[in-house]
Amino acid sequence: MRKIIILTFISLFFSACEYKIEQKNDKQTTINDENSTKSNFGIVLHGGAGTILKENMSDSLEAAYKEVLEKAIITGHKILENGGTSLEAIAETIKIMEDSPLFNAGKGAVFTHHETNELDASVMVGNTKDAGAVSGVTHVKNPIELAIKVMTNSPHVMLSGAGAEQFASEQGIEMVDPSYFYTENRFKSLQRIKDSEKTQLDHNAKSAFTDPLIKDSKFGTVGAAALDKHGNLAAGTSTGGMTNKKWNRIGDAPIIGAGTYANNATCAVSSTGWGEFFIRAVVAHDISALMEYKGLSLKEAAREVIQKKVPSLGGDGGVIAIDKDGNMVAEFNTAGMYRASMNAQGELTIGIYKE
Ligand code: ASP
Repeated sequence: MRKIIILTFISLFFSACEYKIEQKNDKQTTINDENSTKSNFGIVLHGGAGTILKENMSDSLEAAYKEVLEKAIITGHKILENGGTSLEAIAETIKIMEDSPLFNAGKGAVFTHHETNELDASVMVGNTKDAGAVSGVTHVKNPIELAIKVMTNSPHVMLSGAGAEQFASEQGIEMVDPSYFYTENRFKSLQRIKDSEKTQLDHNAKSAFTDPLIKDSKFGTVGAAALDKHGNLAAGTSTGGMTNKKWNRIGDAPIIGAGTYANNATCAVSSTGWGEFFIRAVVAHDISALMEYKGLSLKEAAREVIQKKVPSLGGDGGVIAIDKDGNMVAEFNTAGMYRASMNAQGELTIGIYKE
């Protein structure tokens, strides 16, 4: 009898302990759930970097740029404020700039040597490190949407040309006639470059790219990076590439690690600049790596890459980025970069030139 009583006590004691442990675990889960909605969030965008000088800009053009930048950042911010994901926020922000003729992406894409428009885009999310990219598409109204579909609905990371367009129509992505991408300004830029090329002996040589007319003709790419209330980072980039490009040239914008990178442990980055150099400097991933392996802050890492590494190779341009704590940077080594940001407190900044 005594044995039975002792055994009953022992088993009651253990089940009480188990109950306590379960309760504790339940509590921990609840605490984690509460933590998964953080108060910190933010979004930052760029609309290209280059020789953007106040003296070359009319008041009305400057106002037109600022209007689109503001609309784009507020749209993304609203999504974040309402608990939407960083991916949704950057997608809608980028689409607004793709639909504007002012930027070298979507509607306002620059012309290739053969007077066509070949568009590139990429996207990455920091929680799973999933990524998607497209290059050389000619009928896709919003290439950023297609890059997202490649990430979410295909087993691949990067699709190009006709195959990417076939995938786009299978996914129900909006397709347009190539004439949709015609803008007079971009067409005139192409003609100016072609005229100047005639005076160059070897216009295929690398030296041709140092001609300021050609060098600056590639800027105007768009991109965004965001941190959502769930603590997830995302970045995306979209471009028409470089005016007068030949041979299906592809820049950094659709290259994961160069034009776009996101990692919840560090930051989300979108690049704009002279693509050949941004590929060789692996700009977006390099910024993340400096934070991850060297413990640099986002600001320090972006400075290191944009002010030292890229120029040491001979390139120029800039990045926008946001880190896992919501700190945002817009770092560039050119005269200007179209940019905007909005933090959790709703503070809005819009900039074009160097301060
Ligand atoms: N990085 C883009 C490219 O080289 C151009 C740009 O950002 O303006 O295609």
